[in-house]
Amino acid sequence: MKEVIIVKYAELWLKSEPVRRRFISVLMSNIKQMLHECGVKNFGVVPARDMILIETKEKKKVIEILKNVFGISWLATAFETGSNFEAIEDAVLEVARTIPENKTFAIRASRSDKQLPYKSRDIEVKIGEKINRSVNLSDPDFTIYVEAKTRHAYVYTEKIEGPGGLPYRTTGKVLVLISGGIDSPVASWLMMRRGCEVEFAHFHPEVFAAKDNLEGIKNIVKRLSEYAPGALHLHIIPYSEIQSSIARNCERKATCILCRRIMYKIAEKLAKTMNAEAIVTGENLAQVASQTMDNLFVEAHALTMPVFRPLICFNKDETIKLAKKIGTYRLSVEASACCLLTPKRPMTSAKLEFIKREEKKIKNLDKLIENALKRRQEVIL
Ligand code: ATP
Ligand code: MG
Repeated sequence: MKEVIIVKYAELWLKSEPVRRRFISVLMSNIKQMLHECGVKNFGVVPARDMILIETKEKKKVIEILKNVFGISWLATAFETGSNFEAIEDAVLEVARTIPENKTFAIRASRSDKQLPYKSRDIEVKIGEKINRSVNLSDPDFTIYVEAKTRHAYVYTEKIEGPGGLPYRTTGKVLVLISGGIDSPVASWLMMRRGCEVEFAHFHPEVFAAKDNLEGIKNIVKRLSEYAPGALHLHIIPYSEIQSSIARNCERKATCILCRRIMYKIAEKLAKTMNAEAIVTGENLAQVASQTMDNLFVEAHALTMPVFRPLICFNKDETIKLAKKIGTYRLSVEASACCLLTPKRPMTSAKLEFIKREEKKIKNLDKLIENALKRRQEVIL
């Protein structure tokens, strides 16, 4: 019997028909590209009514890759048979042979084509009767799923969870500020899962960090690129000139707020050059003393572009759990480096007028910003 991988999309039933069609076509091309990039040689990706079918001899490898493709709700290895009752029965009985003697089972059938000359219930009852194992409808050890369509039926036992979300590159482009800590890679992954194309900006503290972590940040972006078709772009912006200017000219307690405001200003200029429509950060409300509502407001006030903070309501342990799941946690722990300019008592309730006054003390800020952007390096990972 022919085996295929069936792929079900997440959330697309919420979309109108034209949007659905566009999203499915992007999802299919993302699947193809990601399989190619991972070295899968012979495979077919075919659209079916409410799913995508993948034919391949490298099933195990393909399933591992598909688990990283955004927009996939779940997948399964299925037997594909004709849609006549006898063919379905053969497939179900074949699958049932793998159920150990002391285990229970249930059949769950659905029939999308109501013209078919049998009911889903017939599949469940009539074929179920022929299986020499105990039935348990409420909590079976094994579930045999049958999806009967017009020409074919699909029989499978295990649904493998996909990452969900929407296909990469369907919902716009964002610029992620990545610091090397635990949070920003997770924020990035969440935006990617929501269908956003991402590029990254890292403000390199050069002499003002406890250690140089550029390689570590590249490793994180490289890891995230496993979730996207194609390479990811990391923009490294030298930042120590601006940091030292803040340190020399402004009140000590305002250092972090000014540092971040100017990061935002530079990020917005950079975002516009790449047609990104929003800035993304790993900020969270009140995770550290400086992440107060006042500070978040004053820092982002300089922008005309929206700032997305997908982790705003996460508990730290939730962020860590997700970082471990997506494979960035260990890389972040290795890459994180303390900032040497953080004041002993950073402001926790910044006032806009005060911060604006402090910012004016930085001479030639526009020039410094321009200069930082000019010295930007772009790495493709
Ligand atoms: P993270 O774990 O991502 O470092 P954090 O909890 O340590 O976050 P902060 O260091 O205060 O918090 O930074 C908040 C956010 O600001 C980061 O998540 C990141 O988006 C951005 N950010 C901070 N430093 C930099 C930097 N040097 N370059 C780019 N973005 C940065
Ligand atoms: Mg940090």
